[in-house]
Amino acid sequence: MTVSLAASHAKGKFGLDKIMAASAAANKAITQYGRDNIINATIGAILDDDENLVCLPTAEKVFRTLPITEVINYAPISGLPEYLEAAIDVTFAANRPDAYIKAIATSGGSGCIHHVVHNYSEIGDTVLTSDWHWGPYSVFCKDAMRKLDTYELFDAEQKFNIRSFAEKVKDLLAKQNSLIIILNAPAHNPTGYSLSDDEWDQVLDCLKEYAKDTAKRIVLVIDIAYLDYAGEKNEARAFMKKLGGLPPNLLAILAFSMSKGYTMYGQRTGAMIGVTSSQEVAKEFEDINGYTSRATWSSINRGCQRLLVTIHKDKELEVQLEQERNFYYRLIQERAAIFTREAKEVNLNMLPYIAGFFLTIPAQNPDAVCEKLHEDKVFAVPLAKGVRIAVCAVPLKKITGLAAKVAKAMAAV
Ligand code: PLP
Repeated sequence: MTVSLAASHAKGKFGLDKIMAASAAANKAITQYGRDNIINATIGAILDDDENLVCLPTAEKVFRTLPITEVINYAPISGLPEYLEAAIDVTFAANRPDAYIKAIATSGGSGCIHHVVHNYSEIGDTVLTSDWHWGPYSVFCKDAMRKLDTYELFDAEQKFNIRSFAEKVKDLLAKQNSLIIILNAPAHNPTGYSLSDDEWDQVLDCLKEYAKDTAKRIVLVIDIAYLDYAGEKNEARAFMKKLGGLPPNLLAILAFSMSKGYTMYGQRTGAMIGVTSSQEVAKEFEDINGYTSRATWSSINRGCQRLLVTIHKDKELEVQLEQERNFYYRLIQERAAIFTREAKEVNLNMLPYIAGFFLTIPAQNPDAVCEKLHEDKVFAVPLAKGVRIAVCAVPLKKITGLAAKVAKAMAAV
């Protein structure tokens, strides 16, 4: 007889997702065949061309010279005030919208999504994101007893599918009064897509239209995890200006993360940044999310908050860090460009990659394709409708020829 002590809502939860499973398979193969003989395209962090995990040198230098008391001490529950200011500054750069803008420190971008789901949807509500999405979104929803539904990210021209987006928004708002939409852009995981200026206008116009019904409460979460690898700083952020003048019942929340932008993945530091035209909504944002932080993790890593403040207030350090980051942005672009070029040569259909850590090949049977790829000692992540390749982690010399291997595996299954 099996014994379970879990409460009814907790029964059956199980932790291992496909990314972790694929990564475990790659690690096993590395111990068996040696690292040089394996292509590990499962990792969601930047590896250099010698396959070492990258820490941006300026981030490392500042981190190692922080006073120990700044590393070990608690931070205020909602974050160090200077950190929150710095997070807002680096998020918007020259594109700060005309709005009330408030921030709360969170455990990376993940913490932001956790709090939004917890505080801005009703139990049983459905949250909306695109069909291609970062898998944990559904975990955040299910764990909080919400559901996740999807619209189609791409239309027939491989552009943002505003029609599908608008239909789903309409359907869900016909059933519920609160709607959270999670939009991961720019440099979307897993496709590498970034919305154009026009596409942002379409998304915001659509939401403004539905917000005319003042009984509805709409929250647009913009997951900017890969913002710092999306291209020129202010071009990649240009859409943020459009978040000014939103109706009071439409709140934008940006999920700021230091994981990728500052290579501080495991330090678990980020912020939720609320953008609203309503002073009351801004105040409520601070109150309810600070409260949930207390109830979830207490406070966030002080040392990493101090690191951002230190870098941001010293122009020289900031420019240096941006140059280091740009080096890796260009490296990732180069890897993706080789893959894209070779994919064309072997007629391998890819989703439109613009920037970011990952690119995706649509597939009928992603699990079988990934399994087949193991024969060539290639490890990638099977998604629901495709195969994800982490160009952030595969060195140039291993990228060459990879598209052909994927095409071969696709043809064989
Ligand atoms: N959003 C996306 C799309 C991601 O890929 C990730 C990390 O892989 C995150 C958010 C969250 O990262 P973190 O919680 O480390 O900031």
